[in-house]
Amino acid sequence: MDFTLPPLPYSKEALEPHMGRETLEFHYEKHHRGYLTKLEAAIGSTPEAKNSLEEIIRSSKGGIFNNAAQVWNHTFFWESMEPSGGGQPSGQIAQAITDAFGSVDGFVKTFIDTGAAQFGSGYVWLVSANGELRCKSTANAECPLTDGESPLLTCDVWEHAYYLDHRNDRVKFLQTFMANLVNWDRVEQRLLDSKK
Ligand code: MN
Repeated sequence: MDFTLPPLPYSKEALEPHMGRETLEFHYEKHHRGYLTKLEAAIGSTPEAKNSLEEIIRSSKGGIFNNAAQVWNHTFFWESMEPSGGGQPSGQIAQAITDAFGSVDGFVKTFIDTGAAQFGSGYVWLVSANGELRCKSTANAECPLTDGESPLLTCDVWEHAYYLDHRNDRVKFLQTFMANLVNWDRVEQRLLDSKK
């Protein structure tokens, strides 16, 4: 794998006022980069370093798994957002969500409730599992790739993701994420890719 931190898909102030520059400076430059640095320190000079990040996630446990999954999860999270995002999806992703959850509003409520109910650190996901869409949460670094599911969307619900912008109000953060930040074009592309 390449031990280069993937670039953010937008500038650090591009998501303001919903996610501030200071959050991106810490979350991307310190947290995300820190996981990659620790992963390289652990496996950079071993044969495992030749594997893809996804292969490392699927075949490791303990500290190597935690750091590898956190590298992947954060890149996936950044790419789940865009400036002036959120709102209503359209096209095939809107149809798939309506089929699975009854309505887009029903999905938004389920996603927010699932993220709010995750005790402690983790992520809330929309995944496609055997062609069926569902919401789930994972603890700490855990990732749907190890469950054979195709992740379509995630929101990081570790406190470091929202404390600077929303203090302890995780529900407000999740509402803001859905209303203003989700990159629906990317989510739809992931859905189409999962069917290949
Ligand atoms: Mn994080």
